[in-house]
Amino acid sequence: MLIVSTVPELHRALADHRAVGRSVGFVPTMGFLHEGHLSLVRRARQENGAVVVSIFVNPAQFAPTEDLDRYPRDVERDSALCRAEGCDILFVPKPEEMYPDGFSTYVSVEGLSSRLEGTFRPTHFRGVATVVLKLFLLVRPDRAYFGQKDAQQCAVIAAMVRDLAVPVRLVVVPTVRESDGLAMSSRNVYLSPDERKRAPVLYRALSRAAERIAAGERDAARLSAGITAAIMEQSPSAVDYAAVVDPLTLEPVDALAPGSDVLIPVAVRFGTTRLIDNIIVRVP
Ligand code: AMP
Repeated sequence: MLIVSTVPELHRALADHRAVGRSVGFVPTMGFLHEGHLSLVRRARQENGAVVVSIFVNPAQFAPTEDLDRYPRDVERDSALCRAEGCDILFVPKPEEMYPDGFSTYVSVEGLSSRLEGTFRPTHFRGVATVVLKLFLLVRPDRAYFGQKDAQQCAVIAAMVRDLAVPVRLVVVPTVRESDGLAMSSRNVYLSPDERKRAPVLYRALSRAAERIAAGERDAARLSAGITAAIMEQSPSAVDYAAVVDPLTLEPVDALAPGSDVLIPVAVRFGTTRLIDNIIVRVP
């Protein structure tokens, strides 16, 4: 595995794979890797001749009040994990490499970016779309791998790829969970032992909602009220939202239509830690 931090090094490393006609699978991350990230790397490994992973804690997707400075980092451990998964190129750019002096171009996916997470993090998806498009242009992957855990991010990037005719195939990989259901996240290390015990309520509440849909519930307001009530039993600092939406447009659904898919995303705060999770349910 080659570890590169500059664009010329990245291009040289990629040229060797392209010269022999290998397809390129790309996994963008912010590092502090866990099994969720590694499931993306494994999928990329299965489907491509060459695998590129990036680690970049992207300042543009953090608001000034957010956790950019304390975001967990361990590039040494991450590179050992990537090597063990058969990654070919690990791209770890410095902020100046991605945002050189005078950087002034941003990608805004309107509409989708202002719903759900966008209400609480108004500049977040502009930062995500900008860095992901730049990484796509640098790596020029055939396929790029994203986690279902960040469902809105998947929807925003899919819209950007469609609208700007970006030549990449997006692959969405299922959420990897701890044994008690908590979705794996680099931010889970922020949870105190007591918060960690309460955090699995997100997935329990989502699973309960899926059961209620299977049992015939079709009213979105009742479903989201049920999810919020279940989560409130664990006394979080806040339930930012619990919604029932269309998986592509993220528009709220009122009555669940038989045969449709609905996305049920939640965002919950325990102390200063903000957790998100979601499930997609096919309505019988
Ligand atoms: P991050 O490092 O948080 O930016 O995540 C990098 C990629 O890994 C994104 O596509 C995430 O959706 C994905 N990811 C993060 N956590 C998980 C998880 N628990 N299961 C599957 N994919 C995940």
